[in-house]
Amino acid sequence: MSELLKIEELTKRFGGLTAVNSVSFSVAPGEVVGLLGPNGSGKTTVLNMISGHLPATSGRIALGGQTISGLAPNQIVLKGVSRTFQLVRGLPSLTVGENVVAALAFGRRKLWGKAAQAEALQRLDEVGLAHRADQSAQELTYIDQKRMELARALALEPELLLLDEWLAGLNPTEMATGIELIRSIQRRGATILMVEHMMDAIRALCSRCVVMNAGRKIADGPTAATLADREVVTAYLGE
Ligand code: ADP
Repeated sequence: MSELLKIEELTKRFGGLTAVNSVSFSVAPGEVVGLLGPNGSGKTTVLNMISGHLPATSGRIALGGQTISGLAPNQIVLKGVSRTFQLVRGLPSLTVGENVVAALAFGRRKLWGKAAQAEALQRLDEVGLAHRADQSAQELTYIDQKRMELARALALEPELLLLDEWLAGLNPTEMATGIELIRSIQRRGATILMVEHMMDAIRALCSRCVVMNAGRKIADGPTAATLADREVVTAYLGE
């Protein structure tokens, strides 16, 4: 199978607005693909349809050859897609470890008890947060909240990880750490589709980019060439 994710003629209308207009693209296993475009171009709507948080108006989304469009978010998690959200969605009254344990209960292996605790520590270690496992989630710094969000997504054992501006809001030092972290997750074999605005991060992480403008796909190809594409440059400059 040459593609893990295959999106075909995906369309989403909100009343009279076509937010996503017949978009098709694929992601191969092991790839890190950037989903780019100016604000309002439809990127988050595409992620929401892949993760099942929004139903598509038309089109098809398949994972490993199986149709996932039309399924509920929890069913899509079980098929192997998990995501982070633009706003961290943890459970602030629980500890960091408990947050990951809670995610594991919804994962593909439905882990509970001691097995879940051990696994949660492992996931936290992967994002450099094992030392904070017993701390209250609401005491975390911003980047550590982001790390916890990533650990929760990884706890769902995704074949495809969707990142929605995971690097947004980080300072330059944290950004370098964040890029390294995503790289380490990729090295462990993850396939990633990331909505991102930070061009340095996109250049550092993504082998390929899909660019949207006003709901349509306007470019799809290797990162350097795609970012130099005239239509892409024009869309970003708003000319
Ligand atoms: P991006 O992620 O590229 O900034 P979005 O996918 O968030 O863009 O939004 C694409 C368009 O769809 C925008 O015009 C936005 O206002 C509109 N939109 C997004 N979500 C909704 C919604 N739930 N209801 C109505 N319009 C929406």
